[in-house]
Amino acid sequence: ANLPSYIGRFAPSPTGPLHFGSLVCAVGSYLDAVAHGGRWLVRMEDLDPPREMPGAADRILKSLDAHGLHWHEPVAWQSARHPLYDDALEKLQQQSLVYPCGCTRAQIRDAGGHDRQNCTAPEPGASYALRFACAGGSTGFEDIWHGSQSQAVTEDPILKRKDGLYAYQLAVVVDDISQGITHIIRGADLMDCTAVQLRLFHALGARPPAFGHLPLVMNDSGQKLSKQNHAAALDDSRAPENLATALGFLGFRPPPELARSNVGEILSWASARWQRHQVDRRNRLL
Ligand code: GLU
Repeated sequence: ANLPSYIGRFAPSPTGPLHFGSLVCAVGSYLDAVAHGGRWLVRMEDLDPPREMPGAADRILKSLDAHGLHWHEPVAWQSARHPLYDDALEKLQQQSLVYPCGCTRAQIRDAGGHDRQNCTAPEPGASYALRFACAGGSTGFEDIWHGSQSQAVTEDPILKRKDGLYAYQLAVVVDDISQGITHIIRGADLMDCTAVQLRLFHALGARPPAFGHLPLVMNDSGQKLSKQNHAAALDDSRAPENLATALGFLGFRPPPELARSNVGEILSWASARWQRHQVDRRNRLL
């Protein structure tokens, strides 16, 4: 088969509109894909309705579009992909890699984390979480920007929550496999999830993609911009300026007149010049 050599993705959760930090990730993953002759997919991670903000998914897609970040396949919605997660869970269950966990939040907190050996079996009839038995030892990988990494896996992650919702860790890996993702370029806040995800790729019999974690945009109080700390929503009417700012953060020196042209020209200018080594991996202010 003629497998594509590069399929990248941007996978926002619709918990709020895009902000500058998310724009940097979107632009970085887009440019890395396009500069390598690859395809760039958008996947809406609408897996957790209680945490979602009404209208955020559409607003995110409008913002990406306004910034010229056009995806190459129809958007994948996690809310429509539950059968895939069911199948993957079953595949893991057949290998005896899944167990029910009846621990309460308080128990886990008091014990300083979840521990398989001391896990509370669920009461009959009570709801329980499903965990992936994978803790122990460490897993190494090569990050595009951070080089050789080794992460200890100390806790079995939840695959399906007590409330019946699938967890991010399972869905993200199942989708990266089913969409044939070859390169995961995302924010450094997700670096720590990588070892668990690699173990899931392995357990599901899939070859893992390459990983690259982009620097985070920090605010004045030294926190990463996030929806939780109310980072300002991107102003789509300033898309060219926003793109130029994001490019500056990613190590470009866009000529001042570029910010006055249109988003299509800005992105072609940048994709023709994208070089991974120009990205400064340190988290910092814009
Ligand atoms: N949906 C996740 C988030 O918005 C990102 C998942 C990923 O890139 O692996 O934080």
